[in-house]
Amino acid sequence: IEQTAYQNDKLAMLGKIAAAIAHEIRNPLTSIRGFIQLLRPHLLQLGKEEYARIILAEIDRANDIIYEFLNSSKPSAPMMQKVYITSLLKEVVLLCDSEALMKGCQIQMEIYDEQLAVSIDVKQIKQVILNIIRNALDAIEELGGERSGCIVIFAKREGSYVEIAIRDNGKGMDHTTKIRLFDPFYTTKAEGTGLGLSVSYRIIRNHGGTIRVTSDMGEGTEFKIYLPLVE
Ligand code: ADP
Repeated sequence: IEQTAYQNDKLAMLGKIAAAIAHEIRNPLTSIRGFIQLLRPHLLQLGKEEYARIILAEIDRANDIIYEFLNSSKPSAPMMQKVYITSLLKEVVLLCDSEALMKGCQIQMEIYDEQLAVSIDVKQIKQVILNIIRNALDAIEELGGERSGCIVIFAKREGSYVEIAIRDNGKGMDHTTKIRLFDPFYTTKAEGTGLGLSVSYRIIRNHGGTIRVTSDMGEGTEFKIYLPLVE
């Protein structure tokens, strides 16, 4: 699935607008957050502490959206560093392990070659892998324990590229989702921002790579990322 130039333009434009206003929205949000914290004991007395909890959660959600916006609008010149992709993958898996365990899900790694060197912005690529794993965990969770969840991560050489495959046995995607998943703001989740994959797509493209998806409804999904290898 290839993202069109139109989608890229849309994302770039949104990013610019967001960067311009995000700062202005963040400041009032921060003061609202502070005052709600101050009101909390009073609300507790009134038996309305739940309201404070909801307001704080919603403020945090708004902040998350702004944060993701800003990420998507960052200048595209990445901080390149030569690393072995396998060590990065191991770090990210370590980061997700406890989250996965809580959801009754296993993450397996299959690495066919430890010496796969890439020149990447480590932070950005970590964010991409993290996005994809978190989506996989969501997809498994949405099956509601129908089967035990499993995520498998492969890394191998594919010509002059490294292929990173991330496969889950979650709920899979319907036709519309498969077509639209890289669109900014496309989400099927109540709490989703729909920005994770559009940002990931842009990051991979900026690294001279590609990202592909195969998915079967009710079966699972596989993301494949290709990044150019360096000697
Ligand atoms: P968000 O996670 O906030 O919804 P994303 O851009 O990361 O935003 O994902 C867009 C949509 O793609 C998700 O809402 C979901 O429907 C679909 N999706 C992404 N990854 C998977 C997956 N592994 N399995 C099933 N659906 C997925």
